[in-house]
Amino acid sequence: MQIIRSVPEMQALAEALRAQGQLIGLVPTMGALHDGHLTLIRAAAERADAVVVTIFVNPAQFAPSEDFNKYPRELENDVAKCEAAGADYVFAPPNEEIYPKGYSTYITEEHVAKPLEGVSRPSHFRGVTTVVAKLFNICRPDLAVFGQKDAQQVAVIRKMVADLNFTVDIVVAPTLREPDGLAMSSRNRYLSATQRVEALAIHRALYKARDMVAAGEIRSDRLVAEATHILSQQRRIRVIYVSLVNRSTMEPAREVIPGETVMAIAAWMDEVRLIDNIVL
Ligand code: AMP
Repeated sequence: MQIIRSVPEMQALAEALRAQGQLIGLVPTMGALHDGHLTLIRAAAERADAVVVTIFVNPAQFAPSEDFNKYPRELENDVAKCEAAGADYVFAPPNEEIYPKGYSTYITEEHVAKPLEGVSRPSHFRGVTTVVAKLFNICRPDLAVFGQKDAQQVAVIRKMVADLNFTVDIVVAPTLREPDGLAMSSRNRYLSATQRVEALAIHRALYKARDMVAAGEIRSDRLVAEATHILSQQRRIRVIYVSLVNRSTMEPAREVIPGETVMAIAAWMDEVRLIDNIVL
């Protein structure tokens, strides 16, 4: 497996792979890889001839108050995991390669990105769409794999791909969870043992909604009230939102349409911001 650090080198490689008729699969990540990321790499390897994993902690998607500086960085470890999961190339550019001095062009999706995460993290998706568009231009993928764990990110990327006529197939991999239900996340390592136990309430709230829907409840207000009640029983959890939305538009859903409606939760577990969701 090869590690690439520069944009021109990655572009030349992508060009050469395409000239050989190889299908390129891209898996964008910020590193600190866990098994959830590895599922994405395997999904790419099943569908593409050449799998490129990008490892880049994108400063543009962090607000100044957020955890950019303390975000875990462990490239050597990550590279070994990528190789074991079936990646062919790791593209891990330094910051100046992606945002050279004087960089000034950004992409904003202006509808799907607005609610939920967009309210509490107003510049987050602008950073995501900008870096993903750049990675598409640099790595020239035929397909790119994203995790359902970030449901709104998937919806925003799909909208950007449609609006900007990118010819990249977006593949979505299901959320991988710890055995106790906690959604895997690079940020889980910030949690103490006690915080981690309380954080399981997020998973309980989502699965309670799923069970209520299975029992015939489709009213959004009742599902949200029950999930909020479950979360409110934890002393350290502060709810940011509990919402039922359409999975493509992120617009509020008054009633569940099976397979179309997502319950999305964001909450502070003390100082750690966690998100999770379930397709109902
Ligand atoms: P990140 O490195 O956190 O930016 O995540 C990179 C990709 O991995 C994104 O497409 C995420 O949605 C996806 N991802 C993160 N956590 C999980 C998980 N638990 N299961 C599946 N995919 C995930």
